[in-house]
This record gives sequence, C-alpha cells and structure tokens, in this order.
Amino acid sequence: MGSHSPLFYDSPLAVQSAAGVWLTSMDGVTYLDGYNNVPHVGHCHPYVVEAVHEQARQLNIHTRYLNDRVLDYAEQLLTTVDQPLARLALTNSGSEANELALRIARQHTGHTGVLVTDFSYHGNTTSLAELTTGLPVREPLGAHVRALTIPDMDHESEGEEAVLARSLALVDTAIASLQQAGHGVSALLFYPLFSTEGLPRLPKGYVTMVVDRVRSAGGLVIADEVQAGFGRVGTSMWGHQLFDMVPDFVTLGRPMGNGHPLGGVITTTNLLDEFGSNNLYFNTFAGNPVSAAAGLAVLKVMNAEQLLDNADTTGGLLRGKLTELAGRYDFISAAKGQGLFTGLEFVDPTTGAPAPAIAKQVVEGMLARKVLISRIGRNDNMLKIRPPIPFNRQHVEILTDRLADCLTHL
Ligand code: PMP
Repeated sequence: MGSHSPLFYDSPLAVQSAAGVWLTSMDGVTYLDGYNNVPHVGHCHPYVVEAVHEQARQLNIHTRYLNDRVLDYAEQLLTTVDQPLARLALTNSGSEANELALRIARQHTGHTGVLVTDFSYHGNTTSLAELTTGLPVREPLGAHVRALTIPDMDHESEGEEAVLARSLALVDTAIASLQQAGHGVSALLFYPLFSTEGLPRLPKGYVTMVVDRVRSAGGLVIADEVQAGFGRVGTSMWGHQLFDMVPDFVTLGRPMGNGHPLGGVITTTNLLDEFGSNNLYFNTFAGNPVSAAAGLAVLKVMNAEQLLDNADTTGGLLRGKLTELAGRYDFISAAKGQGLFTGLEFVDPTTGAPAPAIAKQVVEGMLARKVLISRIGRNDNMLKIRPPIPFNRQHVEILTDRLADCLTHL
C-alpha cells in the first residue's frame, strides 16, 4: 500500500473483524460503521456467510457450464428492474460492468463518443480512466469524451427553469461537439446519485431531459448503480428509478455480493443478443456459483429484513437530525442526500467558500469518537455518511450525538 492506493485517516485504521454495523480494530476497539457500502446488508451477515459456505462446499466452477444457482440469481434480480430490461451478464467488478456496457453501446450505435458528468468515477480500466473526471487520475480525458456540468439548486442563484435551460444547453453543445469531431454519441454514462459531484439537488426533470437528448442523438444510456443501487436510495431499488426514465443498461457492483467480488450488467434482450451474435464476452470467474449464491443471499436478506424500507425511514431520520445540526452552525451550508447516502456540507461562514479543512477535521474527530465516516464532493468539503443499510434509529442516535459533540469541539 502507500501513495498509489491511499488509506483513510492520518493514522490508518487496522481492522480485524466485524458484525452488522460494527467494526473492530486490531487493538480491540469497536467502531460504528457509518461509511461502508460493500457489506451492504451488514458485515459478515450470517445468512450470506452460510450461503457462500454451502455453495463453496457443493460446487464452484467457471462459466462454461450451466448452473441453477446462477439462473435463480438472474431471475430474482431481474424482477427488480423495469421493462424492457430483461437480461443479466455477470462480471467480477463495477469496472468490468461499465466496460461491458460501453462495448455493447459502441457496437450497437457504431459510435464511440461518451458523455459523462464532470466530477465522476466509473472504474479502474484504461478506457474508464479516460473518462474519469472526478479523481486525480493521470490519464487525460479521451478525445471521444465530453463532461456535463451537473447543476445543484443548493448552489444556484437563479430559479429552476433558468438553471435547467442553461444545463440542457451544455448537453446540446457536448453532443454537437462529439458529432462534429466524428465520434458521434454511443452512450451517456451517469451515476444517479451524483455523490462525487456532492449529492446535488437537481432541477426537476433534468435527468429525463438529458436522456431524451442523448437518445435523439442515437446514444444509449448507462445508469451506473454501483453506489446508488440495491436500495441505497430508500424509495426504490435503483437510483435511476428516482427519475422518469428506463436506461438501456444498469451496471452493478460493490454491494451486490456483500463483500464477495460480484458485478453485472442488466440490459435488454435485443442489445445482449445483438452483441452476442457478433462478438464474444468471456469472463472466467464472473457468474461462478459461489458469487451467485452471495448475490442471491443479499436479495433474500434485503427482503426478509425489509431493508429497502429501512433505508428510507432511517435515511429520513438521519437527514432530519443532520438538518437540525446544519441549522445550529453557520459553517454548515446544507444537509444533502437521499436514503442512506447522506452528507453535510461545510463552508467558510464569512466568504461562503468550500471548507474542506473542516470536513477533514470532522472525519478525524469522528474516528476519535469511534464512528467511521468519510468525505466527498468537488471540493472535498462534504461528509460522506453511507452505512450498511441495516443502520437503525439507535445507530443514528449514536452517530448524530457524537457528531454534535465533535462539532462543538472544533
Ligand atoms: N462506478 C462507481 C460509481 C463506483 O463508485 C465504482 C467504485 N468505487 C466503480 C464504478 C468501479 O467499481 P470497482 O471498483 O468494483 O471496479
């Protein structure tokens, strides 16, 4: 490890075990986990652990054979998406999922141009590094990539209509530029919560209108649900279901296997069949029965423990408490987010400028108070609170009490 793969905190935390929303360090201290979305239904959930164990004892093999576990998983997962989405291709990671969606989009449209948002991250491969706008990767933006500025009504002085008109004009310009350069538009790749951009409050109708423009230009739409999916937003299983649209691809990762490496692309029968008839996608480990068992167990736990509803109610409760805190301090400009992905934004009270130093101090202060959270946003001035989704009322009380204490001691 080291500078090529940065760890959290001034003094990194070494962990040894976990259960539910609690994480224990090597020196035996227990922390409330307000940050991790990979252990989606709770760290080391016994049902998931048992399902993985059982399947590993029975069979694990690559994807050149049929297996019921994989088919069961695909069938259950596909009940959660809207028509015409009807097919699943499994991968090992979110990066692979986005790669595959981009390949299918390129082949279908005959174009290479990609629209992304202007502070985003979609994965670690060469082609995804070329469309990363939100992290300090070294690769320059690809000539075939255009980045859209995402509006945030919390930072606008104009009204919604004016902001919407200005933002959509940027989309038209980006599309025209891709067409003039001969790339055309193969896809819009977007992340429905826009958390790297700082959980913006969008003008009403924005996403749907962008999607309409992309489709009119012949492009396909990829909703990257690696962070926003699997009930994180509370009111729906998928982040894109917050908007009036159905994407051509839903890409999946992170929470999907509760820590087991599992990703996937959900798309239409037509797109997958067309791709398969002219091209090959083989992925040795993707769709192995043990990964599928992990994925299936996550869906079962989500249902049995009603975790979608929990993300909605607990997320609402948490945001209510954060809004209360925001009202108490002039250096907190807003409580933001959706479901169990929430943030508090810090500014300099005299200038209104972003205050990343305060965010950093609070993240460290919360570590000292045995609560794990992190930071996000264009200016790194926002708290990132994104716990496993069994987070409940009692956990919210602990987190916000300690946060209140931390803020008083800044
Ligand atoms: N998309 C988004 C929105 C992500 O947050 C990430 C990972 N943080 C990825 C894609 C890439 O996923 P992976 O690391 O599993 O390749």
